[in-house]
Amino acid sequence: MADPTLPPMTNRTVYEGAGLKIHTLISPPDFFANTTHVIELPTQLLVIDGQFFAPYGAEVRAFADSLGKPVTRFYISHDHPDHYLGFGDAFPDVPVYALPQIGASIRAEGPAALAARQQAFGPLIARTLNLPRYDVAEGTETVDGVTFAFSTAHDNEAAVSLVIRLPEHGVAIVQDIVYNGVHLFVTGPTTGWRKALESLKADPGVSLVLPGHGEPGGKEIIDVSLAYLDTVDALVAQGVDSAAYKASLLDRCPAYGGAALIDIYLPILFR
Ligand SMILES: [Zn+2]
Repeated sequence: MADPTLPPMTNRTVYEGAGLKIHTLISPPDFFANTTHVIELPTQLLVIDGQFFAPYGAEVRAFADSLGKPVTRFYISHDHPDHYLGFGDAFPDVPVYALPQIGASIRAEGPAALAARQQAFGPLIARTLNLPRYDVAEGTETVDGVTFAFSTAHDNEAAVSLVIRLPEHGVAIVQDIVYNGVHLFVTGPTTGWRKALESLKADPGVSLVLPGHGEPGGKEIIDVSLAYLDTVDALVAQGVDSAAYKASLLDRCPAYGGAALIDIYLPILFR
């Protein structure tokens, strides 16, 4: 059930082309600003990523139902709980796709992650998981007349993540490789992450970037993430402690959402 006492998601149609609309729903900044992208094709919907908090999973479901087309596939980009924990109750009946290693990881770790978050957050967390049972194969596939190109990205915000491009439309669904106006989730050296951002930036086939946290945008949002990593690296190089690190990021990015993400990763980054 969507919870009327919680602030609503933002919901915007971020792209319209031949036989394709993309709707991006974003949870509020205090709720990690997680994105879910609803890809609307002529006869069906594909959904990318499933939120952390169950009420937002339910809000995505209500929106998908309002479009009057079935959700035929649900894709999970990577194995961080803010992308797969929130939709099990709302979408118990849709086939869930992930890269093979991501699917295996979520099937192994998901139930314990769900139980731990239920303890911590109570009814804000879903009662059930809908686990990935279908492997994403790398390469291209045409669905309802639109070409999808699936590829694996390594060593960025997550060790492994799925990137989905819609080459005919200049769209790259990169999820947590790019954050926009939200604190990045940093757990170690940023070299691989920078490489992923630089190669995305250099890709002439990309004009619309769909991030995992915050608003979609043009390639300029890649620079926002790179600048944030510059700040992180400078702080780490200065040898600041975790409290000073967090205070400095909050000070330099006062309008950013997802401050709670810093608290979650600090013990990992400063271990
Ligand atoms: Zn995330």
